[in-house]
Formats: sequence, structure tokens, C-alpha cells
Amino acid sequence: MIIAGAGASGLSLLWYITESDLLKNRSILLLDRSLTPADDKTWCFWDSNDLPMKDWIHHSWDSLNVRAYNHEFPAKLQKFGYHCMRSVDYSDALLKRAKADPRITLLEADITGFDTIVAEPPSIDRSSNGTPGSSKLGVVHTSQGDFTADWIFQSALKPVTSSEPSPRRHQNGIYLKQHFLGVEIRTEKACFDPSQATLMDFDTPQDRGLTFFYVLPFTPHEALIEYTFFTKTVLSRDEYMRGVEGYLSERFDLDASGYEITREEIGVIPMETRRYPARYNERVVNMGTMGGLTKPSTGYTFTRIHRHCASIVSRLEQGRQPVVEGESQYRFRVYDTMLLYILEHQPAMGKQIFHDLFQRNHYDRVLTFLEEKTHPLQELAIFATLPYAPFLRSIWKMRRHILTGA
Ligand SMILES: Cc1cc2nc3c(=O)[nH]c(=O)nc-3n(C[C@H](O)[C@H](O)[C@H](O)COP(=O)(O)OP(=O)(O)OC[C@H]3O[C@@H](n4cnc5c(N)ncnc54)[C@H](O)[C@@H]3O)c2cc1C
Repeated sequence: MIIAGAGASGLSLLWYITESDLLKNRSILLLDRSLTPADDKTWCFWDSNDLPMKDWIHHSWDSLNVRAYNHEFPAKLQKFGYHCMRSVDYSDALLKRAKADPRITLLEADITGFDTIVAEPPSIDRSSNGTPGSSKLGVVHTSQGDFTADWIFQSALKPVTSSEPSPRRHQNGIYLKQHFLGVEIRTEKACFDPSQATLMDFDTPQDRGLTFFYVLPFTPHEALIEYTFFTKTVLSRDEYMRGVEGYLSERFDLDASGYEITREEIGVIPMETRRYPARYNERVVNMGTMGGLTKPSTGYTFTRIHRHCASIVSRLEQGRQPVVEGESQYRFRVYDTMLLYILEHQPAMGKQIFHDLFQRNHYDRVLTFLEEKTHPLQELAIFATLPYAPFLRSIWKMRRHILTGA
């Protein structure tokens, strides 16, 4: 097998494959343009405390907060922990394991494309191929040459059929971005409560679209502050930075002499109604962001990547094609479409909706809903706490998209 792209999804898949007794005879080529762990992302997720890889979690919170219209909704989580993993720790641990494993070959190379070729009959090892009888192999083209495998799992290139939307498709779809600058700071005075993360603080100007601050405190003196937008256009670093400085001054009474910046991260995550194909071609499977694993209405991807990788491995173990179609059920895709429509066309409603959502529902219930683990009656109970007019309007406006499968 080839894993093309050694980020969150590539390394997670590698972990699930190497943990499988049934796949222990597989040899794997792991490709990325850089195999040096990068400290460029902080992945947060919630779970019921039974996920693998616990050792690499950087910090966990048992309490969350949301703020809007000067109201705060702090509460302890009962069902979940809210965790963060640093990409550098995750990559470091998994790449070290990979280097020590004789089944795995690591190669730094630029990936330029994918193809299939017809396999010469003698070269097919049908005992290790997930689909006996198949005569194709996947090919990855790289700066270091071409490589072939029964299956290629890729998270590096945009699938061909999901190229940038044309103006015509724009009319039927919604293409927002969740974009942010995250600034990690160390303060002189004690400012933060490391047991509580602020998911969203909406008490900041909303004139560009839905805008909020996300505050992840690690110690009383250290926190990651992310200035986040759900809009179409990203900002310059200076514009984000001015917002962060204003927020630190207003909310924590911190001026530039009261803190030092220890780290920064910039993020752009797609929030789109477009569906990504599960395959790049017959033998190349899309994963991670390139596989459309991002939940369109929230940008959360990490847990979905884990579920996707676990399903791929389970199929490989059963000798089935390791292709998993679609992450979300139809009704959740409809809910995502409704919220995205509102965020694009009535962004001012976004703050009100999130205010009502967190004022009238416990975090455990909201997180279960965002995890798509609720049943329809529970979902109706949540919708009953929200202003209904914008949602009805969104259904009407997006009816063609909804009726054709969302
Ligand atoms: C800053 C940031 C913060 C995020 N925070 C969260 C979060 O808190 N919670 C959450 O659920 N989601 C979060 N996400 C969304 C998502 O979980 C991450 O983007 C995640 O890294 C996606 O995993 P991936 O494997 O698809 O992509 P990546 O992790 O980006 O991995 C792709 C890999 O492919 C390699 N690559 C790309 N192109 C080529 C090429 N041409 N040749 C060779 N190699 C190539 C890259 O070097 C990279 O290693 C965040 C995203 C960003 C950008």
C-alpha cells in the first residue's frame, strides 16, 4: 500500500494499519514532501474518553464556555472530554514508530498526480490484494519517480471532480471558509483558567460575517487565542493580529508589554455544501480534507478522520474494497446545508443561533449532535430551541440541493 500525504489522516491510517494483526504482512510506502514534524496545527476534538493515542494529548478541559451578548454559558462536561493534540507531537510519535518498523518505507517527495495501470498478471499478489480478480494498480507520480501499489490512500491533492466551483455551481452551493489566526501567548500575570476552554466568544464586531474568538488555556499564564471567521475571504496577518490585540486588551486587560507570543498558526478550513468523491480513481482513495471529511458547518475533521481510517482498515481486514462512501447521513447533510446558507446569507443570525443553542442546550447534547450521534427526536428538541424562520427560509432557498441528495 502507499500512503500519500503524512498529515493527520495519512499518519492516523498508518497507525490503524500497523495496529491490525490481520494486516501485519503488508508493506507500506509513506510519502510526503516533508517528513519533519511541523508545529503548525492544534487539533481539538471531544470524545467519550476511550480513544487510542491518549498519551499524545497536549491538554484536556472538562468544562466549556460560550459567550454572546455579554452572557456566558460555562458548564462542566459530563459525557465527553474536550482535548487538544499538537500536530508536532502526533507526527513526531507516529513517524518515530514508522521509522522503527521494517514494513514501512518513508520517502520525502513532491506528489504530482495519480493514475492507474493494468497490472501484468504475474505481478499481482492476489493474496494481499483487497479485491481478488482486480487487474489494476494505483500509481503515484512524484518528484522521485513513480510508485505502484494495490491501493493508494491520498490526502495531498484535490480530487479532480472537486476543482474550484464554477460561477454556475456557486449558485447552487455554498463555499465558505473557516479561517483564523491562532496566537499562543505567555502572560506575566495569571489570566486563564486551564480547566475551561472558550469554544466561541461572539462579543466582537460581526461586520465581516460570523466572527468569534476561541480561547484554549493551557496554564494560568499560557493560552492559544484564535481569531476565527466563517466567511468567504481570508484576512491579512496584520488584520487578524489587530483583532487579537484588541481582544486581549478588552477581555484580559493585557497590553503588548503583558505577554509574549510563543507560537502562531494560520488555518483555512473548507465549509462547503460540495461533496467530495471517496476515490481519486479506481485504486486511489481520498482521505482527510481531500476526502471531504471536514464537517461543513463546524470545520471539525480530526475525529471523523479517525472513524474513516478505522473503517478503511476494517474493510481491508475483511478483504473488501477499502472505499468508504460519505461520512454524514442525509439528514445531517441537510442540517449542515441549512446552517451554511444562514451563515452566508444572514450572517448576523449566526450569533443569535449559537447564543440560543448554548443557552438552552447542555454542551453534551450539542456535542453529541455535532458528532452526528443523536436520533431524530433529539434533533427536533434541539431545533425547537432555535429561531425557526431562518432555517425554514434556508430549506426553501436550498430546496434543489436538498432534494437532489444534499
Ligand atoms: C491550523 C489548523 C487547525 C485545525 N484544527 C482543527 C481542530 O482543532 N479540530 C479538527 O477536527 N480539525 C481541525 N483542522 C482541520 C483538519 O483536522 C486538519 O486540517 C487536518 O490536518 C486534516 O488532515 P489531512 O490529513 O487531510 O491534511 P494534512 O494534515 O494537512 O496532511 C496532508 C499532508 O499532505 C502533504 N502534502 C500536501 N500536498 C503534497 C504534495 N503535493 N506532495 C507531497 N506531500 C503533500 C502535506 O505536507 C501534509 O503532511 C485544522 C486545520 C488547520 C489548517
